[in-house]
Amino acid sequence: MDVFVIGAGASGLVSAIKAKDAGCNVTILERNNKCGKKLLLTGNGRCNFYNENQDIKHYHSSNIDLFKEILESKKDEILPFFKDLGIVYKNNNGYYYPYSNQSTSIVNALLNKVKKLKIEIIKDTLVTKIEKKDKFIIYSDNNKFYADKVILACGSSSYPKTGSDGNGYLLAKKFGHKINKVLPSLVQLVGEDNFYKEWKGIRSDAKLTLFENDKKIKEERGELQLTDYGISGICTFNLSALVSRGLNKNKKEEIEINFIPWFDKGKKEFLTWMNEQNNKLSNYKLKDILEGFLNYKLVSLLLKLSNIKEDSTWNEIDKEKLIDLIMSFKFKVKETKSFENSQTCIGGVPLEEINTKTMESKIVKGLYLTGELLDVDGDCGGYNLSFAWMSGMLAGESVRKND
Ligand SMILES: Cc1cc2nc3c(=O)[nH]c(=O)nc-3n(C[C@H](O)[C@H](O)[C@H](O)COP(=O)(O)OP(=O)(O)OC[C@H]3O[C@@H](n4cnc5c(N)ncnc54)[C@H](O)[C@@H]3O)c2cc1C
Repeated sequence: MDVFVIGAGASGLVSAIKAKDAGCNVTILERNNKCGKKLLLTGNGRCNFYNENQDIKHYHSSNIDLFKEILESKKDEILPFFKDLGIVYKNNNGYYYPYSNQSTSIVNALLNKVKKLKIEIIKDTLVTKIEKKDKFIIYSDNNKFYADKVILACGSSSYPKTGSDGNGYLLAKKFGHKINKVLPSLVQLVGEDNFYKEWKGIRSDAKLTLFENDKKIKEERGELQLTDYGISGICTFNLSALVSRGLNKNKKEEIEINFIPWFDKGKKEFLTWMNEQNNKLSNYKLKDILEGFLNYKLVSLLLKLSNIKEDSTWNEIDKEKLIDLIMSFKFKVKETKSFENSQTCIGGVPLEEINTKTMESKIVKGLYLTGELLDVDGDCGGYNLSFAWMSGMLAGESVRKND
């Protein structure tokens, strides 16, 4: 049986290995002259390829029950799979990385296995059209191929410079598949105000609380990065999936930033604590007291936004406004950054159109879909790659069985 895999990314490489193990003749077509371009960028070049906490709450889909079937059937096979490929990994608080701290270890392990199994990879081959007659006919910009089965593993629209630029959705759509609205996720957020140039470059431990139409919906804590357009950092990314969905439905999205998450009490207690600090640090300017626990650039900005002079003392000022800015700074979200910056995408082919035991299309027999092309997205922390591996395994193992 001739199986063609379209895309040599995360899910494509795994599906090819599994299909070959199952006894198929496998060929991979990749548009780039290099495989796994996106994989190489993952985890800041370290590849956070798995997470110990595979709770369903870390995944999102328009049909989470169907996703659950995939998760339950494959989540325990990811680590043994990579162990068999020779990957020695480490577990940093549940986040798994190759011990080398290099994503090249993961990409090379997959490519070494592909080579050992004598799977052919044809690079510089952009698939432009696929037809199904007796066999599948796959057209590329420079060639034509015939296949018994096709695994579509073209990725999503995020980071188009890596090769996954959304064209896979069009290939699936031509076969009659629906594409649920595709939106950027795990992405930076752009704010509505105009002072962001002044906080650019600041990093601060923070607690973020997301309010949607004034209703609290999620909290995240972590290192917040302040940028000239708004906010970034993992805690921001983990709220961005909800923000992106909400903005798409014209909901008001607002994030309250607490710049002192280590102070685990309320504003009244903070006022008392500041009074005590002020008494202890007599003759200190307010700015000097604040710089004892906040970034100095942030202190200047917060004072400016509260209309407080830099040389003021604690006793002289309107305390309420300043405490509000420190503990519940209102960041009004205007939009998310675009697909160029997003680590993953919301939306794609709905799971209802796929047999989730095999990843075979319910619309076209012999066509399989994997990875980000499907309507599943995960939180930051190894979840998106986990889904790519799981869906790739299922498709590769099933192509022959469903003959
Ligand atoms: C900067 C960044 C960091 C990330 N970090 C992490 C992380 O640490 N942990 C994590 O879990 N996830 C991370 N992700 C997400 C993760 O990389 C993706 O979820 C995963 O790679 C998706 O796998 P895939 O197989 O669906 O698509 P991809 O890995 O994108 O592979 C698709 C492949 O198909 C090829 N292709 C597309 N169209 C065609 C065509 N028509 N013909 C031929 N070839 C085609 C592309 O060139 C590409 O090689 C990160 C993403 C980014 C952008």
